[in-house]
Amino acid sequence: MGIVVAVDGPSGAGKSSTSRAVATRAKWDYLDTGALYRGATWLAQREKITEPLEIVEALEKFPLTFIANPLSPKLFCADVDITEAIRSQEVTDQVSQVSAFPAVRAQLLEVQQKLISKAERGIVVEGRDIGTVVAPDAALKIFLTADLTARALRREKELESPADALSTEAVGQSLAQRDHLDSTRTTSPLMVAADAITIDSTELSLHETAQRIWELLKERRLLGLPIVALLGRPNVGKSTLVNRFLGRREAIVEDTPGVTRDRVTYECEWNGREFMVMDTGGWEAKPDGISVGVSGIAELAMEEADVLALVIDSQVGALDEDDILVRELRKMKKPIILIANKVDSPVEETQAHALWNLGLGEPQFVSALHGRSSGDLLDKIVKLLPEVGAAQSQDGYRRVALIGRPNVGKSSLLNILAGTTRALVDDVAGTTRDPVDELIELGGSIWRFIDTAGIRKRANQSSGTDYYATLRTQMALERAEVAVVVLDASTPISEQDLRIITMVEEAGKALIIVMNKWDLVDEDRQISLDREIDRHLDVVEWAQRVNLAAKTGWHRDRLAPALRTALTSWEKRIPTSRLNSFLGTLIAATPPPVRGGKQPKILYATQAGIAPPRFVIFTTGFLESSYRRFIERRLREEFGFPGTPLQVSVRVRERE
Ligand code: C5P
Repeated sequence: MGIVVAVDGPSGAGKSSTSRAVATRAKWDYLDTGALYRGATWLAQREKITEPLEIVEALEKFPLTFIANPLSPKLFCADVDITEAIRSQEVTDQVSQVSAFPAVRAQLLEVQQKLISKAERGIVVEGRDIGTVVAPDAALKIFLTADLTARALRREKELESPADALSTEAVGQSLAQRDHLDSTRTTSPLMVAADAITIDSTELSLHETAQRIWELLKERRLLGLPIVALLGRPNVGKSTLVNRFLGRREAIVEDTPGVTRDRVTYECEWNGREFMVMDTGGWEAKPDGISVGVSGIAELAMEEADVLALVIDSQVGALDEDDILVRELRKMKKPIILIANKVDSPVEETQAHALWNLGLGEPQFVSALHGRSSGDLLDKIVKLLPEVGAAQSQDGYRRVALIGRPNVGKSSLLNILAGTTRALVDDVAGTTRDPVDELIELGGSIWRFIDTAGIRKRANQSSGTDYYATLRTQMALERAEVAVVVLDASTPISEQDLRIITMVEEAGKALIIVMNKWDLVDEDRQISLDREIDRHLDVVEWAQRVNLAAKTGWHRDRLAPALRTALTSWEKRIPTSRLNSFLGTLIAATPPPVRGGKQPKILYATQAGIAPPRFVIFTTGFLESSYRRFIERRLREEFGFPGTPLQVSVRVRERE
């Protein structure tokens, strides 16, 4: 089963267009569940039946089939194409009654879940109860709403035929009535799932709304990364190339001639583009009777990859085996790039021009070992990458880093949280890194606790900070969305604790501070702790705080709500209009201080991004940092951002 994105919301909020836009861009499936309820209503009208059980029977006799293609979704009832027919006013007027019948819902629930399970890579499902009932495990849940007037206006535009022409008011009434029925029925009414992200599209265009969802998908790593497969004979330098691609990130050991290794994938990044490189080890074409085949590993890599890179040792040149591989590569009908490796000088480059003969176009001359032209090669590769790749994406579980200095109780906390439900999972698809994640169920959702191997290791080492531990923390933070920093409440807050908290802030992650060993905090300690918190944790006043005792499990149920709150803030977005009216009032009451005789004017502000929320303020002059902090404070007061750092930057515009 692929990634599931649930889009719920009232009628006319733009669910269909938005969902289709997202599904199209990701090359995923699309399911309009409203169409199914409309289909059932259409069938009831055709059969002139009104009783729920009769409708269920009719649905069994004339089953609904939905074609889940976002470019042209279609609905069939038995073999009749009813895509258009279900949009009639008669159907619209009655659909909410029909969809309120539990028996009809049960029948259609099955249809929906079957369609969802058939989606290979991903599916965007829109409706009313997707995030709550149909796909409660969806990787991303969106609740899309808009003002009633905005929705009525949009609907009115959609209704083109004169017969359907209704006044905006009438359309609004019809929508409102449907919303009411849909929200008040007893079986799976329209409501916001606890872990849904609400997007108000009143002031957003279709493109902007879809873009918001796209950002969330990217942020949560739900879009598959493109894969580049490196293919070629043994010892042409594939591993050295991988090392070049990885840069400083991680290094792998050199190929050992003749030793077949498993296919391995590595995460790379170049110019902000992330992708996976798949090193296929040595590809060997072995004559097998009269036919010559490629190795299973290479075959698999070719199937899965988005871009195929054939690596040739230019000092050896192309051999017969390479010709065979070229033939296989061509069959895949995927972009191919020819890499002529071990070219260290212009003279060697001239010689390597013979590789044009392979008929794969211009060879890319590089020296993986010395780095010659490897940047150019990466530029070329990145250009060939599709936006969303084949690398089967992550599972969509929120990623939590549990960090803190040694002996604060991270391991006991992990143990008590995990209970018996722990499941060790490997890190990102097939990489050889050693971190191990754990999936843990907390407060009704599953969370991915990152790099728990490190936690265990450090727990029994208790060797104080070392470079390795810091690096490991940093790596975990890089992959996480939210950090749980564990402090030992029974001992004074230390420099090292503060350093870790600063790391979280600098990494721009949501933050929860757990005061562990709370059972050891007596009245005296409470007083000194209050003072320490005032003094040291003042700067991260916004962090979510949870007091607990990992040993006994006391208050461990407070963690999940804190995580949710922090993540909601982390991904929150303030509409530009609201942001600017807030800023207008703020400036009017407290203008920025005069500097060098001039008063900087604040022109406008915009939220440039989420995760964490980033604000940019455009001004005519420099703003004192105290004033920037003041704005940040007021932003928090006005909009509330518990648990997330905020970034506020100022851009001074040149005077016209
Ligand atoms: O999305 P659309 O407006 O086409 O949906 C038509 C009706 O189908 C809704 O008003 C609602 O009554 C019903 N519906 C539902 N549950 C869903 C999707 C639609 O009850 N998941």
